[in-house]
Amino acid sequence: MRSVCVFCGSSAGNDPRFAQAASEFGALLAREGITLVYGGGHVGLMGILADAVLANGGKVIGVIPRALWDREVGHRNLTELHVVETMHERKAMMASLADAFVALPGGLGTLEEIFEVWTWAQLGIHDKPVGFLDVDGFYAPLLAFLDHGVEAGFVRAPHRAMAIVDQDGASLLRRMGEYQPPKVTKWISAQAT
Ligand code: AMP
Repeated sequence: MRSVCVFCGSSAGNDPRFAQAASEFGALLAREGITLVYGGGHVGLMGILADAVLANGGKVIGVIPRALWDREVGHRNLTELHVVETMHERKAMMASLADAFVALPGGLGTLEEIFEVWTWAQLGIHDKPVGFLDVDGFYAPLLAFLDHGVEAGFVRAPHRAMAIVDQDGASLLRRMGEYQPPKVTKWISAQAT
């Protein structure tokens, strides 16, 4: 993996462990020589993460819609910054620039973004790994709900299993690097016939 797109909160959350984890994950990306692709803001965990990559000599590519520049305090010191017109352009560019996707703790925006790339993997539109850095069990209730979705017959077990969940950043990156995508395209054509 040469680049990882990270989705995370435009807030820092109430527990200092979230900021600590974002900072450590940024330092890890820099040490591993993995370029960070992210939303380009300088607020919340987004800003903490980008600053940590840069402070440790790593590369950061930001992609921010013009209309969000003020609200998310566009980061002025990135290795590369793309100012785009729409949210859809932002997500498409982030997806094409990254070899993998990771969610750190975050809110609705983070969830929307990670679910989009997860559902696109489910459809076989891409075969890049999707992971969750489960800081302090933040994502456990959401993942439990998705297990409920499997039991209820709405989420297929292989699709649920695609997401790599880890509480440790280094272990998460290692497992994502070893990811073998399931043959979803085959599944789609088998179902369609
Ligand atoms: P949040 O997790 O809500 O703090 O938001 C994290 C990031 O997701 C911010 O950069 C938001 O601008 C971004 N975001 C929110 N909604 C969307 C969306 N529908 N498409 C793309 N990015 C979004």
